[in-house]
Amino acid sequence: MNDKQVCLECGKPLYGRTDKKFCSSACKNDWHYQQSAGLRSLKSWTATALARNHRILRGLLGHPGRRFKLVELQLCGFTPQLVTGHLGTEDGISRYTCYDIHYSQTDAEIFDVHSANLYKK
Ligand SMILES: [Zn+2]
Repeated sequence: MNDKQVCLECGKPLYGRTDKKFCSSACKNDWHYQQSAGLRSLKSWTATALARNHRILRGLLGHPGRRFKLVELQLCGFTPQLVTGHLGTEDGISRYTCYDIHYSQTDAEIFDVHSANLYKK
């Protein structure tokens, strides 16, 4: 018997079966509701932030050779840790994708921003 088991939702001690996680079905329902609401909120936040990244990156298209300071992009709402793909890293330069836009990124800059469509044959 594990006497340290407590309800995941309210923290009351649990008695009986050792695999119990909740003291009542009300606590179980509340916990699952909170979990799914939290996940929905996280998914929604991520989708919004990725859309904002894409909008910002789209604005950087058409400037071959130009480099953009990451801190300035972050001030505009760019979230560098959110990407839709990582194509690889070499010599401290990572290649990322944000949907159809590909770009190179160092610790401080973003450059070579282009639409992947340009490279389609
Ligand atoms: Zn409970």
